Amino acid sequence: MTTKSDIVLSVVVPVYNESAGLLAFHGALLPVVEQAYPQAYEIIYCDDGSRDNSVALIKGLQKHNPRVSLLKLSRNFGKEIATTAGIDHATGQMIITLDADGQHPVELIPQFIARWQAGSRVVIGVRTANQQEGFVKRLGSKLFYRLVTRLTGIKLVTGSTDFRLIDRSVQREFMRLTERNRITRGLIDWLGYERSYIEFVANPRLAGEAGYSFRKLFKLAIDSMVSLSISPLYITAYIGAVILPAAVLIGVGMLVNLLLRDPIHLRATGSAYVMVLLLFLIGVLLVSQGIIGLYLSHIHTETQNRPLYIIDQEHTSRQ
Ligand code: UDP
Ligand code: MG
Repeated sequence: MTTKSDIVLSVVVPVYNESAGLLAFHGALLPVVEQAYPQAYEIIYCDDGSRDNSVALIKGLQKHNPRVSLLKLSRNFGKEIATTAGIDHATGQMIITLDADGQHPVELIPQFIARWQAGSRVVIGVRTANQQEGFVKRLGSKLFYRLVTRLTGIKLVTGSTDFRLIDRSVQREFMRLTERNRITRGLIDWLGYERSYIEFVANPRLAGEAGYSFRKLFKLAIDSMVSLSISPLYITAYIGAVILPAAVLIGVGMLVNLLLRDPIHLRATGSAYVMVLLLFLIGVLLVSQGIIGLYLSHIHTETQNRPLYIIDQEHTSRQ
């Protein structure tokens, strides 16, 4: 890593097929960072395997401004990994991450910096509303924050986003985290530190489409919960704890019913009970197997010990 002590502010932006809005985004971002630290900023665009001409656009920006860097991953690794690559390569005293689609208002960057100057090591952008998003997505994200907080004990503020600032000391610790199944903001939350929050209303996307489909978001939610918490492993035990006494009760009930010659006229045959019980138990078994499978798959990817990302090209003017 090049350590350039002259950089105060690093801005890290993951980019995936953003060519339609990228120039407008850069045009909005640049004056803000230039105003903040005219001679001491860098903007790192992490191209996450875009298939449009995002890379060419970034190279063009870099030609005009040597403070722009391009980190081109060899393929699409997903936003979490792209952001991680950018954070790893950032050299500033503070690092701000934000989306390239214009949804994170760049005008708020001075406020993030002010909080940092006042001593916060992590400043988190909290999204208060996004009318653009469908009901399902909003409900899903709400459930996700609740569930993660419940399961992990790490307090995630509802609506906290990847629009955030971290201090260099937090970056150092962040780089020690090795898991592949990762959700960047969850990891930063796990790290702790003095945090502060800035609320914002997300803009509509500048152009293009959100790269995260509902299916992808669902998988992300499941994966991050599995990687952040082991409590799902306990679910089977809890279910068992409920089922065992229930089974005993039903058994005793059947016996009593039989002895008293069916006073409530259930006329249930023994096999009816068995059928219900069997179905129930098979369901429980399947759920437990699924959960074990989830963890196995995580252990599998972690033990493969592959590098987190592959960098195809690195274009930076300061080496
Ligand atoms: N992104 C990425 N890799 C991906 C998908 C998205 O680097 O596989 C980037 C994208 O270019 C944008 C940010 O991550 O800068 C957020 O993506 P998007 O707007 O699609 O997600 P959402 O706003 O729905 O969270
Ligand atoms: Mg977006």
